[in-house]
Amino acid sequence: MKKENIETILSHDGKKAHSKGAVVPPIYQNSLFTMKDWDDAEQTFDDRINNYIYTRGNNPSVRIVEEKLAKISGGESAKLFGSGMAAISASILSCITSGSHIITVKNIYGPANNLLQNYFKPKFNVDVTYISGIDIKEFEDAIQPNTSLIYLESPSSVILSLQDIEAVVKLAKPKGIKTVIDNTWSSPIFQKPLSLGVDLEIHSCTKYIGGHSDVVAGIVIGSKRDIDNLFTKEFELLGAKIAPFEAWLLLRSLRTLKIRMDQHQKSALAVAQFLESHPKIEKINYPGLKSFPQYELGKKQMTGYGGLMSFQLKTFDLNKIKTFFNNLNLFQIGVSWGGHESLIYAPAISYLKELSKEQFEGMGISLGDIRISIGLENTEDLVDDLYNGLKLI
Ligand code: PLP
Repeated sequence: MKKENIETILSHDGKKAHSKGAVVPPIYQNSLFTMKDWDDAEQTFDDRINNYIYTRGNNPSVRIVEEKLAKISGGESAKLFGSGMAAISASILSCITSGSHIITVKNIYGPANNLLQNYFKPKFNVDVTYISGIDIKEFEDAIQPNTSLIYLESPSSVILSLQDIEAVVKLAKPKGIKTVIDNTWSSPIFQKPLSLGVDLEIHSCTKYIGGHSDVVAGIVIGSKRDIDNLFTKEFELLGAKIAPFEAWLLLRSLRTLKIRMDQHQKSALAVAQFLESHPKIEKINYPGLKSFPQYELGKKQMTGYGGLMSFQLKTFDLNKIKTFFNNLNLFQIGVSWGGHESLIYAPAISYLKELSKEQFEGMGISLGDIRISIGLENTEDLVDDLYNGLKLI
């Protein structure tokens, strides 16, 4: 059979037209599905995981997105959640029991870290070992008899450091340790962890998959066995389902995912190269740059690069940093990333409200650290905006 190409899967719903030939499927905005008669009801309940009974389980508007994302990621099945964090917490829960040990990397997404450290650890006696994840030996040394999960985020948050996914899987599989990866940075377009043997792949669909900054959602993709297991336990019981309308918005977004990612990548590389050569920039973290310390590993396991990067200004003078932020015209100040709009953010904005300057610096972050998300505006306009802002400091 001819291989289905990603662009075609994303933009085409197959030969079967939707009701009345509608080119866009309707939103199944209903909480339940009725059955024809008693026998039909019995048969429907025989396969609860696949049939439509109640929208907290399945819904056709949700299913169509799950199927497309499973297909382009090389997974057998997928489950959409109401947020990326819901997808993360359900996935981790599906791999641990009370007293388990988890290995993860230091720079995972903040709330995911908070979940491990301040929720699972004290509540369920779950032990967590943090490593940089740069050397496979660190993973090897961290394994304990009760290790049940290696939780990856590659590239990781803020510093965008990579883990060798294939090597981690090779280490984990024979020991029966599950591997889960937050693959949000790369999107399903640029990195395929399932093809490298990872058990569960997670995305915050709020980022590239949604891409329009109008949906909060998450997805977990994996084998049919693992996703069925997740469905009947963490998904259905904790109830973090997505609304049909939001799934329908994601379907709208999927049609352009590949071309959006290509544009994010093109502009991000141009911006990263501009910043790298700018005299007011101390250093830049972007896996697509040849100077990135793990560039070769990135080339081995990724086919492209997302639009999120971080850099450090040479100055730590808050007044100058504020001047830079406040004089940008295209980059708007805001959290999140992966949308059509370019964004800028500094950890100093929120962390300094909670931490002393010493505590802040103790986390390995400086006042000059800045994160930018490259949107879909014209590439030269974005470079010009940063050039003009940097001129003022
Ligand atoms: N993973 C990463 C890498 C993120 O940056 C985020 C959100 O910023 C999440 C997961 C959480 O996703 P959500 O905000 O959809 O819950």
